[in-house]
Amino acid sequence: MGYIQDNVLRILNSLPQGIEVVAAIKGRQVDEVLEAIGAGIKIIGANYVQEAERLYSRIGAGVSWHFIGKLQKNKVKKAVRIFDMIETLDSVELAQEIDKVCFKENKKMPVLIEINSAREEQKSGIMPESLEQFIKELAGFQNIAIMGLMTMGPELKNPEDMRQYFRETKELFEKIRFLNLPYAQVKYLSMGMSASYEIAIHEGANIIRIGTRIFGERVKQPHSNF
Ligand SMILES: *Cc1c(COP(=O)(O)O)cnc(C)c1O
Repeated sequence: MGYIQDNVLRILNSLPQGIEVVAAIKGRQVDEVLEAIGAGIKIIGANYVQEAERLYSRIGAGVSWHFIGKLQKNKVKKAVRIFDMIETLDSVELAQEIDKVCFKENKKMPVLIEINSAREEQKSGIMPESLEQFIKELAGFQNIAIMGLMTMGPELKNPEDMRQYFRETKELFEKIRFLNLPYAQVKYLSMGMSASYEIAIHEGANIIRIGTRIFGERVKQPHSNF
C-alpha cells in the first residue's frame, strides 16, 4: 500500500462520525493528490488559486474544492469558478467582491468566516469580539451562504496549548448559532491541522484540514512556482 493511501485510511478510520477531512495540498504534486483521493479523500483544500487551477484541470469537480488561503480580491473571479467553499472570509470588502462575482455567474458561494482566535496582529481573520458586528454586515449579500467558522489558531510547539483557542472559537460558533440569523446557517466549524486535529475535534470541530499527516513533510521550496 502507498504511503499516502495508508495515511488517509488510518486517519479516516480513526475519526468519529460526522467529521469531514480537507486534504491541504499546498506544494503537492497531482499524483500525490490523486492517491489521497483514491484512498477516500473527498475535499481538497488549496491555499493558492493558481495552484488550484493547475490541479483542477487534472482532477476536476469529482471532489469538493475548499479555498483555505488568503484570498486576494483580484483572484475572486477564478476562485468562484473552482471552489465549492471559501473557508477564509475575513473582510466585508472580500464578501462584496465574492457576492458581485457570484451574482454575475449566477452562483451562491458557501463561506466560512475566519476567526483570528489568538488575536495575532499580523494574521488575518475577524477578531472574536468583532464577529457579531461583522456577521451583521454580511446580511445583504444574496450570493453568499454563510455556513460557519474557521480558525487556524496560533503556531505553538505544544498542540495542547491550542485547545483554548479552539474552545473559544466553538463558543463563538454557538453564540452566532443562537442568534438564529435567517441568512446564516451555522453548521461547519473548521479547525485543527496535522498536529492538533484530535484536540480540535474534541473541542467541536467538524471539518479538519490535514496536510503533513497525509502527504508527509513538505519540501521547502522558497520561490517555487508550485
Ligand atoms: C497547510 C495548511 C493546513 C495543514 O497543515 P498541516 O500541519 O500540514 O496539516 C491546514 N490549514 C491551512 C490553512 C493550511 O495552510
